[in-house]
Amino acid sequence: MHKFSLKTQFLIAMGLGTVCIALFGMFVGPVFGIGYVNASVFSGAILLSGIAVVGVHFLYVKPIKNLQAQLDQIASNELNTNVPSSRLAGLEFQKLSATVTKIALQKSRAEQKQAELTMAARQAEQANQMKSDFLANMSHEIRTPMNGVIGMSELLLETELDADQQLYANTITKSGTALLTIINDILDFSKIAAGKMTLDPEDFNLEVALEDVVTLLSVKSVEKNVEIALRYDPTLPTLFNGDVGRIRQIVTNIAGNAVKFTQDGHVSLDVSGAKTDQGYAITMKISDTGIGIPDHMIERIFNDFEQVEGIENRNFEGTGLGLAISTKLIQMMNGSISATSQIGQGSVFTLELPLPIANEVHYASKEPTIKNQATVLVVDDLPINRTILSERLACWGLKSIVMGSAREGLDAAQQSPNGIDLFIVDAQMPDCDGLEFCRDIRALPKFSTTPILLMSPVNQVISDADRTAIGQCEVMLKPVRSQLLRHYISNLLGAESASESPQPLDHATQVLGTRPSQLSLNGNQLKLLVAEDNRTNQLVVKTMLKGSGIELTFANNGAEAVQLFQELAPDMIFMDMSMPEMDGIEAAKWIRDLETEQGRKPCPIVALTANAMAQDRQKCKQAGMDDFLAKPIKKSQLLGALHKWTAALQAA
Ligand code: ADP
Repeated sequence: MHKFSLKTQFLIAMGLGTVCIALFGMFVGPVFGIGYVNASVFSGAILLSGIAVVGVHFLYVKPIKNLQAQLDQIASNELNTNVPSSRLAGLEFQKLSATVTKIALQKSRAEQKQAELTMAARQAEQANQMKSDFLANMSHEIRTPMNGVIGMSELLLETELDADQQLYANTITKSGTALLTIINDILDFSKIAAGKMTLDPEDFNLEVALEDVVTLLSVKSVEKNVEIALRYDPTLPTLFNGDVGRIRQIVTNIAGNAVKFTQDGHVSLDVSGAKTDQGYAITMKISDTGIGIPDHMIERIFNDFEQVEGIENRNFEGTGLGLAISTKLIQMMNGSISATSQIGQGSVFTLELPLPIANEVHYASKEPTIKNQATVLVVDDLPINRTILSERLACWGLKSIVMGSAREGLDAAQQSPNGIDLFIVDAQMPDCDGLEFCRDIRALPKFSTTPILLMSPVNQVISDADRTAIGQCEVMLKPVRSQLLRHYISNLLGAESASESPQPLDHATQVLGTRPSQLSLNGNQLKLLVAEDNRTNQLVVKTMLKGSGIELTFANNGAEAVQLFQELAPDMIFMDMSMPEMDGIEAAKWIRDLETEQGRKPCPIVALTANAMAQDRQKCKQAGMDDFLAKPIKKSQLLGALHKWTAALQAA
């Protein structure tokens, strides 16, 4: 192909034209006798027009048509890089054609890449789905036998055992629970990595949720002689909307670490908040007096698998995943977490969490009245406990005198001008124990009958005999639950009938402990149907409910559950999710349909399942179930659910 530009082509054409005109004039003019010049002008005009038409066609029209054909092919996604180009097309047209070919090639490559990416994304999506299905299955498969292990060992501990047997059974329970924590951590971690972690917000009571966490951790902390306390700003509302399960998990992890890494001293959880347009900006400060964290590790501990101690010198259990999971969950909640620490002095973890207030209006249970303006003397060696108590008492209209030791307490009591209406005394103080203090108080005639509330750690048993000897005395277990404290104070100050024993309003399990009390519904035996295909788990439930006075029936699958629902008309149903023949979801739907058809009142259905993922909870809700208990189930949880739903039935 020639390599002439349009300008060169034009000059060549002009030159050739002039030569032709000259030759024509020279040879043709004399033949027709019209003279050389005239013949040249005439014939030149005809010739130039012809050359112009042919030139424009080959030099411009044809290359443009070729380009258009090439662009049409690209537009219709056909790629032909060998589009014929006009031989006479100018250099510019040839370059333009080459550029169009290049663009077409790039377009085709981009489309190919896009197709490959779409395919890869689809494959990744499928793999992700398989992974989460695997996780859900594994979670179920592990939880089912763990339910047997933990449940049975808990029950074993309640039987007559010698010291060795007690130790073995205790080790099984503890190891089982530790194993479950590790499994949960790994499952959560994989779920977050797979982008499958979702939050499940609902209205909840933040103060009660944090009290639950602190109560749970107190068992461990008391063993180590580390005191744990919760200060919940009394001016802060308690009802919020959020994923309470995940909030509990985060605080349990951070406060659990605080207990784990503290050998002596205390751990405190301080909760405050500031009003925002959307709700409240909650701040939780978790402080400990433990081993501390070196400066260079303070940021790193929030990363996956990072631990201050190396593998070879580890003294503490743990996977190094807790903080990483908590950090990710906090980020999902639009919050943040940070830490400060001093080696040998302790650490402070600060959690900032925006929480909207509860969506629905929740009517508070009727609170017991408290005799106003009574004077309470608080004696506790731990400053955080003194702050918590004096703040609470002021909030309930009580005057308080707070003292840090038994000696100071006695002096203050004797010098108080208006006397003392109630003593709140820590049962375990360094200079003198609570019982000794009570005896000293009773030795003073003016306090011989003044009521005393003894705050005792779970491991310090105050016997009935001691209590009777003191007289006018109640014992409350630490850590203090605000609602329960109010009931005790109200009782002791005489504003309520003294015979009525204090009951926390929505915490049946704390009062119940793990010993089942007789459960009845409006004076009749409570009929409970449990749909559970696994024989070991049937035995666990049966043994846990021994002595509760419940009429218990088991269904081995969903179909049997529906049939027994028709025949027995139970008051309540506990329903496993995955069962042979008919699963729990299907069975719950059938039962709800039957109730509608027959105009029956809805029977509470509690999912009792090893499928612990958020979507399982959602499925249960959609099938019409009322509540959800994830396996392995603790006896206290089982009894708590029974009490909750019996109370709801009674109130209906
Ligand atoms: P785990 O506790 O399972 O090892 P975490 O992710 O919860 O994992 O914590 C990571 C590490 O951070 C811990 O191993 C410990 O070295 C350090 N750490 C966390 N909290 C504290 C604390 N309160 N005091 C001292 N060290 C802490």
